[in-house]
Amino acid sequence: MDLGISGKRALVCASSRGLGLGCARALAAAGVDLVMNARGQAALDEAATGIRAEFGVSVTVVAADITTEAGRAEVLALADAVDILVTNAGGPPPGLWRDWGRDDFIRALDANMLTPIALMTALLPGMMARGWGRVINITSQSVKAPIPQLGLSNSARAGLTGYVAGTARQVAPHGVTINNLLPGIHDTDRATALDGGVVKAQGITLEEARAQRMATIPARRYGTAAEFGAMCAFLASQHAGFIVGQNILLDGGATNATL
Ligand code: NAD
Repeated sequence: MDLGISGKRALVCASSRGLGLGCARALAAAGVDLVMNARGQAALDEAATGIRAEFGVSVTVVAADITTEAGRAEVLALADAVDILVTNAGGPPPGLWRDWGRDDFIRALDANMLTPIALMTALLPGMMARGWGRVINITSQSVKAPIPQLGLSNSARAGLTGYVAGTARQVAPHGVTINNLLPGIHDTDRATALDGGVVKAQGITLEEARAQRMATIPARRYGTAAEFGAMCAFLASQHAGFIVGQNILLDGGATNATL
């Protein structure tokens, strides 16, 4: 399917690895020029070099912490006037409800709620003025069904979801859509890190921890960054202009809900 976005420009945050990289690759495959961001220069350069070689699109890289004001300023200096924005950042650490104080919540809110909001605030006006734009926020299945040990993520992402629900309807008249992609378990470094916690807590091997988690997913496997990226590229496409303010779960059926 021709996604109809060849020649558009996208900013994909936190995209040297994992789901962000999956989104960057799928957009590049559709002919989209990229601004890619992550904290570490080396992994970012490697990812960008691979994408340029494979898809022939232009890729600009900005190594910066997207969750800080200074980092965002660096990124936005090179990513002004993009047509497509994919927000993403590392997820908050796991823990228990009684462990978290105000500073922990502020960090989680900064990273997973206020950062995507700041990026939208900066880039939506240009998209609206040009009459076309796409925003895809990478959130989590924890928005639909809480993950007990990820209370910081549950909280921050729910806040972002509320913001998107209202804002998406305000920008839609200008040809701009905002939607959220909710990953369930995907085979990335983040998933391995969380499995590592189970290995420690239960004294089992990584393979056993993965098998345990896969057994809870009706698809009986983890998702891939490529599958995730394909949905992101579709949401960014010309075909998705009528999808507004939605929360799309990619979880292999793990969330046991009718709607
Ligand atoms: P990952 O750890 O595999 O990759 C994270 C990427 O983000 C890397 O490129 C890293 O350099 C970059 N990054 C992290 N913090 C950054 C920052 N502050 N500024 C700039 N770049 C930063 O993670 P992932 O699995 O791809 O997850 C992406 C997001 O999706 C996370 O917020 C995660 O919590 C969420 N999520 C992931 C899963 C999963 O199973 N993988 C499930 C639910 C939610």
